Amino acid sequence: MARVPVDEILIAGRWRRGGGAPIETVNPADGTPITTVHAASPADVDEAARAAAEAAAAPAWRDLLPHRRARVLYRIGDLIEERADELAALQTADTGKTLTETRALAASAAGTFRYTAAALETAEDSLTPARGPYVTMSVYEPIGVVGAINPWNSPIASDAQKAAPALAGGNAVLLKPAEWTPLVSLAFGRLVHRVLAEEGLPTALLSVLPGRGGVVGDAIVTHPLVRRIGFTGGTATGRAIARAAAGRLVPVSLELGGKSPTIVREDADLEQALAGVMFGIFSSSGQSCVAGSRLFVHRSRYDSFLGELVARVRGLRVGSGTDPDTQVAPLVHHRHRDAVAGYVDLARAEGGRVLCGGAAPHGEAYAAGAYYLPTVIDGLPNSARACQEEIFGPVLVALPYDDEDDLVRQAEDSVYGLACGIWTRDARAAWRLARRIDAGTVWINTYKQFSISTPFGGMKDSGLGTEKGRDLIRSYQRQKSLYWGTDTTPLPWAH
Ligand code: NAD
Repeated sequence: MARVPVDEILIAGRWRRGGGAPIETVNPADGTPITTVHAASPADVDEAARAAAEAAAAPAWRDLLPHRRARVLYRIGDLIEERADELAALQTADTGKTLTETRALAASAAGTFRYTAAALETAEDSLTPARGPYVTMSVYEPIGVVGAINPWNSPIASDAQKAAPALAGGNAVLLKPAEWTPLVSLAFGRLVHRVLAEEGLPTALLSVLPGRGGVVGDAIVTHPLVRRIGFTGGTATGRAIARAAAGRLVPVSLELGGKSPTIVREDADLEQALAGVMFGIFSSSGQSCVAGSRLFVHRSRYDSFLGELVARVRGLRVGSGTDPDTQVAPLVHHRHRDAVAGYVDLARAEGGRVLCGGAAPHGEAYAAGAYYLPTVIDGLPNSARACQEEIFGPVLVALPYDDEDDLVRQAEDSVYGLACGIWTRDARAAWRLARRIDAGTVWINTYKQFSISTPFGGMKDSGLGTEKGRDLIRSYQRQKSLYWGTDTTPLPWAH
């Protein structure tokens, strides 16, 4: 079991008990309470924002040269890696995810800090072509205080994806983890805090402020000193945040929900497609924004593919995240498990056939946990709610298609545009489909692979803006243009 953090949150560079309501964190594998953490109060957010503004303006930070700031990020990356086992154990306890996955998330967070440090050291301002007697250049500067609001599904990786570029950009960060999963973000805050203190930098550069979205999240989004918001979460929340930010003319980036199509063409490699479709939806127990939750199979192979898929899904090992054999771990929270079960009931009511799963597993080992069996449903039209709405659990809906136009029409009949998977041996068909489908990421003969060096974002209701990639720091900076006159004579107009 991981070391359980004490009831303290990071406000304005200091650790103390939050002034908000108590949050009881629960291990979803067995329903046992882990600890209680008091949330931040709006007054705590205000204090954190004021201290962050001062920290961002402090010469020790503001004037730190990029290669020196990069050193701070490298150190944070190293420390995350050193503590990866502890962070992973804590995250498994808090989110239910398998240790294999939480270790990978910690490694990814360390990699994000290192990649961002390298991008920072090598980023260049530009000299633009002069069109008069002056030198013109474009430079990037910090924004000031930025808010980073994250969901519960991959806390440490999403924390790093926002905090690393925001710090690299010379800003201070107010980080808000989801109410259900504050623990690993607080542990991450301890590591960043330690590095900042050791480097003699203002520790108020990062505050970690857990609590309810409508209270703490809203206090961050509406705070006058917060000048940019990075948000990952549900589409409805993203829309509300964008509305609030628009009123203040504060830029936002939104990484939102999805209902991603995963396509098995008639020429697909069967083994690859089966493994990829199962991994795409059932890894992370389906609690992944990019989950391949709508399966489209060419009608000529539909019955045989689905028969084989269902047989294999029945064999997936459901269990606790700490068991190395587990493939499908519990969902994050009992309430979320019940919401997923509600969607399966709805699919039944809409006329869907539940081919496997469709219930919590039986047995002593599962009784107290937030488990749900991997579920495959077919017989629904694409217009059914179970095919249109994000379930965010281990539930796959399967639909046949007749030809490419029918496929694209069905796949595109969705408000979302986050990801798409294509399983085919035909390179030209892969290219055509990849370019026709509205999705921020398309995987061809693979699925749910991520790289910090490749931009990630959603189209349509799946988001606005991107994270990751070579330019990841730029979205946390402001661009300024300089015109530097080279003429020795006065401007002609005044003569
Ligand atoms: P959510 O939208 O309920 O909450 C996300 C965060 O926003 C939480 O920290 C929450 O407390 C906060 N929040 C809620 N209301 C707020 C408000 N009014 N003002 C400010 N903050 C507020 O999402 P969730 O249930 O925690 O996470 C699941 C969702 O996240 C899914 O839709 C999933 O697809 C999405 N997600 C997207 C990506 C991506 O990169 N596109 C990645 C992971 C998860």
